[in-house]
Amino acid sequence: MDQIKNYATAVLVLVATVLFAQEEKIYERDPGHLNESKFRQMYQEFATPNMYRSASGTPGPDYYQQQADYKMDIELDDKNARIYGEETITYHNNAPEALEFLWLQLDQNVRSRDSKSPLRNSSSLKVAYTTAAFSKTYLKEDFDGGFNIEFVKDSNGNPLPYTINQTMMRVDLPEALQSGEKVSFSVKWWYNIPDHTVDRARSGYEYFEKDGNRAYVIAQFFPRMAVYSDVEGWQNHQFWGSGEFALPFGNYDVNITVPADHILDATGELLNRKEVFSKEMIKRYEQAKKSYDKPVLIVTQEEAEAAEKGFSEKKKTWKFRAENVRDYGFATSRKFIWDMQAVKIGNKDVMAVSLYPKEGNPLWEELSTKAVASTLKSYSAHTFDYPYHKAISVHAKNQGMEYPMICWNYGRPNEDGTYSDRTKYGMISVIIHEVGHNFFPMIVNSDERQWGWMDEGLDTFMQYLAEQEFGEAFPEVITPNKKYPSRRGDPSKIVPYMSGDQTTIAPIMSNPENVYKLGPNAYAKPATALNILRETVMGRELFDHAFKTYAQRWMFKHPTPEDFFRTMEDASAVDLDWFWRSWFYTTDFVDIGVKGVKKFVVSDKPGKQMQEYMTSRNLTESDYPPLVYLAEQNTDEIDPTMVGKAPSEVSSSLKEFMMDNLTAEERARVKEPKYFYEVTFDKPGGIPMPLIVEYTYSDGSSEQVTYPPEIWRKNDAEFRRVIASQTEIVAITVDPRAETADIDVTNNSWPKKESPSEFNQFKEGIKGD
Ligand SMILES: [Zn+2]
Repeated sequence: MDQIKNYATAVLVLVATVLFAQEEKIYERDPGHLNESKFRQMYQEFATPNMYRSASGTPGPDYYQQQADYKMDIELDDKNARIYGEETITYHNNAPEALEFLWLQLDQNVRSRDSKSPLRNSSSLKVAYTTAAFSKTYLKEDFDGGFNIEFVKDSNGNPLPYTINQTMMRVDLPEALQSGEKVSFSVKWWYNIPDHTVDRARSGYEYFEKDGNRAYVIAQFFPRMAVYSDVEGWQNHQFWGSGEFALPFGNYDVNITVPADHILDATGELLNRKEVFSKEMIKRYEQAKKSYDKPVLIVTQEEAEAAEKGFSEKKKTWKFRAENVRDYGFATSRKFIWDMQAVKIGNKDVMAVSLYPKEGNPLWEELSTKAVASTLKSYSAHTFDYPYHKAISVHAKNQGMEYPMICWNYGRPNEDGTYSDRTKYGMISVIIHEVGHNFFPMIVNSDERQWGWMDEGLDTFMQYLAEQEFGEAFPEVITPNKKYPSRRGDPSKIVPYMSGDQTTIAPIMSNPENVYKLGPNAYAKPATALNILRETVMGRELFDHAFKTYAQRWMFKHPTPEDFFRTMEDASAVDLDWFWRSWFYTTDFVDIGVKGVKKFVVSDKPGKQMQEYMTSRNLTESDYPPLVYLAEQNTDEIDPTMVGKAPSEVSSSLKEFMMDNLTAEERARVKEPKYFYEVTFDKPGGIPMPLIVEYTYSDGSSEQVTYPPEIWRKNDAEFRRVIASQTEIVAITVDPRAETADIDVTNNSWPKKESPSEFNQFKEGIKGD
């Protein structure tokens, strides 16, 4: 090797050694971390793509789903609060395999006297009880709930053998139901309807002592087919109470017989309006169909109050047909006031509907239907046009529960008609949420029994957007000049949960029965994660397109978590494995800070570190070509006249280099940074996030830089950046707009802010929720 080459190699080694010494040190601190890297692809966690479900997140070429059609005759016994029904189910087996038996869900059995549900949690004596709680717990006989199955018969009327295991019923078929075939069978049943205000049931009645009436909100009221799929086989995990429902799509023909003076609405199209409506009601209904700006009363409060006194002995049958729905619900009472208005969705008219007793007024006549209409518009814009012809909001005390086209919502004013802001916003929010559930999971039909977050998380995320849009559409309804006060969705709101006691936090990817706090776990955290994904990680344009793609790919189908995760990547070209892994599969939190800042200036002589290096190797300046030296301002002895000078003013070698190597034009445009900073950021939290940094300069200007989350891919603990700047940096702030749910902001600024007020704010934040 000739001398010149040797010389050049020596210089390269020297420069490389000096420059990379720091980084090597960092890597040594964190051996083996790449095996644990949040950025590795999720091959272990995700199900392998197959012909049913593609790697892109779309339904595969062999995707199938089962269909269950119902013909039902239902009768309500208002006096005894009982419900009777006979149903014929036609079950279509679209799976490639034959089925020897069918599983039906008997959700009401969670309230039967032999239910295991109340026995599965430990209990302990309290030192004091309210009289009501004491009476309910120790004095009263258990409610006699649960289905009484009278028969299960085949289409020829012959009994079919069946076995009930708690909330599941297996019906054994005389011969296996082959792929592509269907079977019809009938079930007859009845049960005692629970008082939902006492038992915290998802459906039941509320009794109004003053007028002796009940208002019924009825659901999970008939034996329903379980889902059979390529993912779970039969989804026959028991209904314990928290994990909700998994249901196949189908068509429903339902006749509901109730006292003649009841007002009733339900899932599906009303087929015999002329039989059940008065002439006046028909006239008002025709008006409502043309009223796009405000609801029209079909039944007034005056009429409802008159009906409350009737207690008719006569009966009336309401007939409905619903196509392509996964469930069925209805509400009925003499007490109901009824209003409706039309909403334009795409090129179609949808009816926004509300049913409420006078106890809901004046709040309900003012705001319920308005909230329904606004929700349909917001959700449709972000997903797909609402495909059903109506959406009903029913007022029921302390309820918040969803079914296709119909839902129950709380929000009751005081007896004198006054109400607090808390009641008002609570009511608007629950209506947005429950009407929103039409999209997730009623149409994008995820398995609620297994994954609470797939409907609750996506719906709560959409609820946040719809609430903000409601606030913009109806500024007169919200506190003047304020944003809609959303309870969930804003990043700062999830900090108390994510920074809380790790022993009571479960990953989002948990079954709803196995989490400690279902609210934050299945609602708030996934909603916040998606909000952060939209605003901070992907950006609105990429996120909105991908989210809409997911909704449209899976509308009227059964998606899994992987179908969602894969579609979000597929439609955006954003690698999100790190995001799903850390937000959905762990209980990690976000905490990123600025650890230290070193300041350098260009010097005409080697700094301390460089000198030490040269001494250790017996090198002198003549052993290598001219270098541009950087000296650390606080540790090196620097000629004070150099500080704040441009590099070419300090280093004559650089000046020469520029003269020899740059054109006059390039020299005119040359940057002349005077201050050099090496900023070390650290990440005490487990979740990698984009690093959002605001640099503030001595001239008062500031600049925001967002480093991609991939900065953490090789080193999960620290990240270092060099900033070369014309003006001095006076402050560095991480996550200046609090958009990442950073749990500890005391390490977010340089120079460190120790202002006690901020620290207290942080501490208060930890306690709240
Ligand atoms: Zn919900």
